[in-house]
Amino acid sequence: MDHTEREIETLRRMISIHCRHNHRQGKLCPDCRKLFEYAEERMKKCRFGKDKPACSDCKVRCYKMDMRTKVRNVVRFSRPRMFSTHPVDVIQHMVDRKTSGRKKMP
Ligand SMILES: [Zn+2]
Repeated sequence: MDHTEREIETLRRMISIHCRHNHRQGKLCPDCRKLFEYAEERMKKCRFGKDKPACSDCKVRCYKMDMRTKVRNVVRFSRPRMFSTHPVDVIQHMVDRKTSGRKKMP
C-alpha cells in the first residue's frame, strides 16, 4: 500500500466516522459517498504522482470549494476520534455504549 492509498483509506475511515455520528444511516449516506469518491478521484489524479504530499499540506487547491469545506469539516470532526492504536475497537465501543444506555459515573 503506497502513501496515496493509505491517505485514501484514512479519509474513507474519517468520512465513515463523521457520517455515522452525524447522518446516522448505518452505512455511508449518498452525500458522504459522493464526497469520498470525489476526494479519492482527486488523490489518484494528483499532479504530483508518487511525490504527492498529504492533501492537507498541499498548496495546490485541486478540490472544488464546497468539497474542500466538506472534507475539512470531516477531518476536523473525525481526526481526534481516530487517535488510538485500535480505532475499530474504539468505534465499536462507542457504538456499544450508545445502544446500551449511558452508565453513571461513580
Ligand atoms: Zn453522511
